Amino acid sequence: MRFGFDNRYASFPGRFYARVRPSEVREPAALAINVALAEELGLDAAALASPEGLAILAGNAVPDDADPMALAYAGHQFGSFVPQLGDGRAILLGDLVDRHGRRRDVQLKGSGPTPFSRGGDGRAALGPVLREYVLSEAMHALGVPTTRALAAVLTGEPVYRDTVLPGAVLTRVASSHLRVGTFQFFAARRDLDALSLLVAHALERHYPDADRREGDALALIDAVMKAQAKLVAKWLALGFVHGVMNTDNTSIAGETLDYGPAAFLDAYEPARVFSSIDQNGRYAFAHQPRIALWNLTRLAETVIELVGDDETKTVATLTERLEGFPAIFEQAYAAELRAKLGLREARDEDLELARDLLGLLAKEHTDYTVFFRRLAHGDAADQLLDVEAFAAWTKRWEARREAEGTTEADARARMLAVNPAFIPRNHRIEEMIAAATAGDLGPFERLHRVLATPFEDQPQDADLATPPGDDQWQYRTFCGT
Ligand code: AMP
Ligand code: MG
Repeated sequence: MRFGFDNRYASFPGRFYARVRPSEVREPAALAINVALAEELGLDAAALASPEGLAILAGNAVPDDADPMALAYAGHQFGSFVPQLGDGRAILLGDLVDRHGRRRDVQLKGSGPTPFSRGGDGRAALGPVLREYVLSEAMHALGVPTTRALAAVLTGEPVYRDTVLPGAVLTRVASSHLRVGTFQFFAARRDLDALSLLVAHALERHYPDADRREGDALALIDAVMKAQAKLVAKWLALGFVHGVMNTDNTSIAGETLDYGPAAFLDAYEPARVFSSIDQNGRYAFAHQPRIALWNLTRLAETVIELVGDDETKTVATLTERLEGFPAIFEQAYAAELRAKLGLREARDEDLELARDLLGLLAKEHTDYTVFFRRLAHGDAADQLLDVEAFAAWTKRWEARREAEGTTEADARARMLAVNPAFIPRNHRIEEMIAAATAGDLGPFERLHRVLATPFEDQPQDADLATPPGDDQWQYRTFCGT
């Protein structure tokens, strides 16, 4: 079987990766094959689901045109620099140009140890695999740049965590697996040749239209800043908490990457943290824009020597660029919030109008997704206890709408297209994992189906839209599981 790989990364010097084959597993069995994504990639979904296809998706065989490798990268994990991380349980099969002319990486995750495993088993358990499958595909349907899930298969082998769990492999598709940490890997080794190659490759692959008049490195920094601003603005607009915004999980393409501890807010709580290891709230919901800037600063540091010979001048130039990030982010965030409120024109007061509303939600721990969906339906009156404050805010909103000549019907139609009825609720994800671990894929399939059209009210599945009950509140997520 051939995938149509042409393996750009394999043309890079050997220090960018380690060639490694996936490890064999006992008994591959399909959990899910993403037919639409397979077609987009120019792959035959039926062939993927055949025994020969499953063997590839489980790591028992590799496509004839694959050149499997684990990629080298470094990264700041919770603020501490680790000079060598790399794909410890992921193997890139290759990259290909899809039906739309976009280059995509196809990677197995959970396919056995690599030279970067650092004592880990290189494996993944069923729960986290299905979690990433559902979350990443939901993010895509919600309009957020993200890695995708092409397939999930059982290995027929156990993995040993706190308990013994069924092993599984996820096939992940990304615009690339270039991370801030990829640049850091070579900067830590003062490998300027590698950095130049990476900058050129990243620009060509992700930002071919970037303005390169001030040089490639600055062009890349500007482009990644914009992409990250847009991405994190979308996260905040949807109530998404990435949970582990380490530099090795920060994609140069501006895609959501690594769904280990990711979770969606139920109640609107800016300080909300889900990850069990994020003790200090470094990656709390409302900290995400600041952390994005921190990560971008680490990226900028890696290209100092590429920008120019005069270090003082270069640092000043890069600092000035980075200082522009809050404004770039605010603009992107204002655009998201304006859309959530059904407004068309950009006005200076929009961010304040939206933030005042968010302040009311935060005070009352109102369910974020339900609130905005009800607002879009013109049905949010009972959502806040502080009736007066909400009425006063509504007046301002109506005045703002009238000022741009948007009718209520127009605003509602726009709002229903950006304020989802369905998000992957944490308690539903947990239910789905428990059922799948016990052999029942029904809840997984249902969740996945409903989340494919999150902006449509699907009355027969309304239970998936409701917030968790009191007993389902203390939600915790785990990294690298
Ligand atoms: P993550 O928390 O998923 O971003 O992973 C951080 C680092 O740990 C990366 O280098 C991963 O490849 C590695 N890693 C995570 N889980 C495993 C595992 N089960 N076996 C080997 N390496 C792992
Ligand atoms: Mg990671």
